[in-house]
Amino acid sequence: MPLETLSPSRAGDFKACPQLFKFRAVDRIPEPVTVYQARGTTAHLALQRLFDLPADERTPDRLYDLFRQAWSEVRMQEDYRGLFETVEDERAWGLESLELLANYFTVENPSEIDPVDRELDLTEDLGGITIRGILDRMDRLSSGELVITDYKTGKAPPERYALPAFFALKIYALLIRHRLGETPTELRLLYLNGPTLYRLSVDDLQLDAMERQLRALWEAIDRALERGQFPPRPQRLCDFCSYRDRCPAWAAADDDRLAG
Ligand code: SF4
Repeated sequence: MPLETLSPSRAGDFKACPQLFKFRAVDRIPEPVTVYQARGTTAHLALQRLFDLPADERTPDRLYDLFRQAWSEVRMQEDYRGLFETVEDERAWGLESLELLANYFTVENPSEIDPVDRELDLTEDLGGITIRGILDRMDRLSSGELVITDYKTGKAPPERYALPAFFALKIYALLIRHRLGETPTELRLLYLNGPTLYRLSVDDLQLDAMERQLRALWEAIDRALERGQFPPRPQRLCDFCSYRDRCPAWAAADDDRLAG
C-alpha cells in the first residue's frame, strides 16, 4: 500500500534506518514505554499549560504543580501503569523531573513570551505528499519574525553534532510556510537536560532544499513499501533501539557469535 501521510519523526526514522521505520510505521510493533518517555510526555504537557497562566504566574512553583497534575493524569493511562516498581522509584523520578524543569527558567523567561500557538496540529498537502506533525510552540518576536520551538527532555548533543537534530524542526518550518505563507526565521531546540538552547536561522532556500529532501524520502519509502525492502542500518542508535532483539542485522551477528 502506498504511503498516505508521513510525520517528521517517521521521516527521521527512515532516514536513520529503514528497518526501524518498518518496525514502527509498517508493522506497528508497540515499544515499551520508558521512564524517559513518561518524563517527556508529562513535561511537554506541563510546559504547554504553563502558557495558559497569566504571564506573572509562570513561575517555577507553578510549573512544578502543573507537572504533578499532568503526571496524575498520564500515570492513569494504560501504557504508563506499572512503570515504576516502587513508590520510592516514582518519587525519585519525580524529583529528577522537577530539577530538569527548574532548568527551563535558566534558558528563557516564560513571562516575556506570548506564544502564537502551542501543540499546533499541522497536516499539510505539499502537492502529492501529505505531512503531519504536532509542533510544540510558535512565537512572534517583537521584530515581527516567527520563531518555532521544540522542547527536549533528553540530553543535548554536543554543538558540533546538533545540526541533524534540527531535521524535524525544518520540516515543521516548511509546514508553517505552506499554511501561513510566511517563513519562520529561526528554529529553536530547547534542551532541559543541559540546559541548552540551540538556534538555527532558516530561509526559503533551506526550506526548498528540505522540501526536495522530503519528496525524495517519500519516493524512497514508497519504493521500499512496493518491494518490501527495508534494509537495517546498524549504528550507535541500535544501543537505544527497542527492536534490537528482533532486528535482522543483530540476529545475524548473534548467530555468528553463538556459532563461535
Ligand atoms: S537495531 Fe539498529 S539496525 Fe536494527 S532496526 Fe534498530 S536501529 Fe535499525
